[in-house]
Amino acid sequence: MAEDYENYSDYERDFFMAVDRNTLSEQAIFDALSTIGDDQYYTLFEVEVEHVCGPAHVQVFPERAGTLYRCLNCGVSGIIGG
Ligand SMILES: [Zn+2]
Repeated sequence: MAEDYENYSDYERDFFMAVDRNTLSEQAIFDALSTIGDDQYYTLFEVEVEHVCGPAHVQVFPERAGTLYRCLNCGVSGIIGG
């Protein structure tokens, strides 16, 4: 990941910062799932995390191969690879 943005153009810096924000949000979702039990896999539930849009309720559906998620604040959805 790009740690030092000084060597990049504004165009590139904007791209890397967006990726960083999304990565941090996905890490927060992943961390929130670190304590779930086996019975919560393959069920849909909500966690509260700091998403790219701010504090938000995020729906998660943990599978063994990854976690599906959707932010109920901004509507962004995706898959976090397991
Ligand atoms: Zn969001």
